[in-house]
Amino acid sequence: MEKKIAARRFEGKVAIVTASTQGIGFGIAERLALEGASVVISSRKQKNVDEAVEKLKAKGIQVLGVVCHVSDAQQRKNLINKTIEKYGKIDVIVSNAAVNPVNKPMLQTEESILDKIWETNVKASILLLQDASPHLQKGSSVIFISSLGAYLPQPNMAMYGVTKTALLGLTKALAAEMAPHIRVNCVAPGFVPTRFAAYITANEATRKFFEKMTLLNRLGTAEEIAAATAFLASDDASYITGETIIVAGGNPSRL
Ligand code: NAP
Repeated sequence: MEKKIAARRFEGKVAIVTASTQGIGFGIAERLALEGASVVISSRKQKNVDEAVEKLKAKGIQVLGVVCHVSDAQQRKNLINKTIEKYGKIDVIVSNAAVNPVNKPMLQTEESILDKIWETNVKASILLLQDASPHLQKGSSVIFISSLGAYLPQPNMAMYGVTKTALLGLTKALAAEMAPHIRVNCVAPGFVPTRFAAYITANEATRKFFEKMTLLNRLGTAEEIAAATAFLASDDASYITGETIIVAGGNPSRL
């Protein structure tokens, strides 16, 4: 059953969410929009962008869709330019894109793949903010989407995990650099059954295994990750910067 969202914390605000045509990014864009934001969604494929725009418009949501592969400098600039052309400012940026193209130990992973994971999961976030920062408002908010794996990189996904650990550091570093007018925070999701995490639901036994790892005995939803992201992006979190919220159902992480 869909939860009713009463808050309107993003009325008059403009939010960009990267990698937002499905999964967690889509959930975040939808949540910010349902709370009043004008949202800009994006991903690599025009068809996915068009379909996601239609889905949101069908819910009465004000949305702009732009193709943006986060590792493409021109497309990043275009994402910012199109947002400014249409809305004139940026209040919220959620940097959500990540890849994990291999299932190999780090010491056996080719340099080109290590570069790709680093570039998409970390460097592109920094470069996007370089383009966006002149347009950010006093009171703007940046959110990185990390992962539970940031705290204990998993074997065979170790490089991915390390890039997610880097986002925890990036959050601290940019919170200092962008203070006092812009807050920078991070959300670390646990297991959410999306296309990216299809291995979790590959079969019933695997799904149960992942569910049992959580204190709440279930997988998370994109809506639950979106709720934490919306909180951090909103004025309800006005005295929080440089922090990471773990949204993982009590999965072991850190103190
Ligand atoms: P997903 O459902 O597979 O969605 C991925 C989205 O990213 C799609 O819209 C895809 O659209 C877009 N995309 C992929 N590569 C891109 C790129 N280089 N540039 C721009 N867009 C790109 O994935 P998800 O599970 O929601 O993951 C979202 C974030 O949550 C990631 O940062 C991931 O690391 C993190 N996370 C997920 C889980 C989980 O259990 N699902 C757990 C921890 C953290 P196109 O194909 O059109 O590009």
